[in-house]
Amino acid sequence: MNHMRTRIERVENVQSGNDIIREAGDILRNGGLVAFPTETVYGLGADALNAGAAQKIYAAKGRPSDNPLIVHITELEDLKKITADIPREAFAIADKYWPGPLTMIFEKTDAVPYGTTGGLDTVAVRMPSDEIARAVIKAGGGYIAAPSANTSGRPSPTTAGHVEEDLSGKIEMIIDGGPVDIGVESTILDMTVTPPMILRPGAVTKEMLEELIGRVDEDQAAFEPGSKARPKAPGMKYRHYAPQAELSIVEGDMDQVVDAINKMALEKTAEGFKVGIIGTRETVGRYTCGDVKSIGTREDEATIAVHLYGILREFDQDRADYIYSESFATDGMGSAIMNRLLKAAGHHVIKV
Ligand code: AMP
Ligand code: MG
Repeated sequence: MNHMRTRIERVENVQSGNDIIREAGDILRNGGLVAFPTETVYGLGADALNAGAAQKIYAAKGRPSDNPLIVHITELEDLKKITADIPREAFAIADKYWPGPLTMIFEKTDAVPYGTTGGLDTVAVRMPSDEIARAVIKAGGGYIAAPSANTSGRPSPTTAGHVEEDLSGKIEMIIDGGPVDIGVESTILDMTVTPPMILRPGAVTKEMLEELIGRVDEDQAAFEPGSKARPKAPGMKYRHYAPQAELSIVEGDMDQVVDAINKMALEKTAEGFKVGIIGTRETVGRYTCGDVKSIGTREDEATIAVHLYGILREFDQDRADYIYSESFATDGMGSAIMNRLLKAAGHHVIKV
């Protein structure tokens, strides 16, 4: 399995990439693995209705077997085969946010093997909007399990190069469709409970969902730093998205945050360590030592989300020992950004 030749194929669009996408579909239908871009992060695809194929995903990623996979579809009518008991609100949500960065959980049918759902009687389903993703899913039979295409525990991949770093030699094909649009994984909404509950924050926010269907809860175990409760999405309990360096988030008044980071960076540098700093366009000019990277601008949180995982990987490549990051607001898209950043930091927050 480790010595497979991995084909890396550049696909500009579904028209010019038609032949490659057809070959990717053949690999998937034969039970193989293909990584492909989606609007959130790159996914590692396998036939979701073939337990043996899904099993290969766990092996390639080193993923714990109790961590269920999200099934990706392209048409609303394809839901019928894999889910039972679809509540009325789900159709309203699908109407507005599918295709898009939102996953919904339903009761599963017998068509979905337990090997795909980590032994659960429920199944998570998403309909992505990315055109290449949609074409690959269709070519592969219409039901494609596709977790993030990284080694378990590493930051999710936002470019084909990231996928290659982690999975080269372990999967049949990587489709390179360029950098992704959003950069953090989908919102996960559990539709099997009333009111529906967000198990993982993403680009479709609580505010957006509540405007549509009224009250929506959040899984507190996934949102409260240091919570002892067991998260309802099995994958949320694992240390995730983590860089090799020790990452600290520094929180407080912006001037004091910059001063505190400068002081810590100077100390660690004097001790001979490599220090990385995650700043923003508004602040990068104010850091006085260390390897300073701008993650985006506070004026547009989407720019921060899309660079988050790539920056964590860059610091790994630079072999940083310590990373200090500014903190971000927790409303809207900020909820997803801080959820991932806190997990990457093992919830290590310095308040100044
Ligand atoms: P990934 O696709 O790598 O972003 O991870 C999928 C996430 O969805 C993990 O956190 C899983 O635990 C979660 N998930 C998938 N299926 C279910 C399910 N049936 N119930 C609860 N969480 C799920
Ligand atoms: Mg993942």
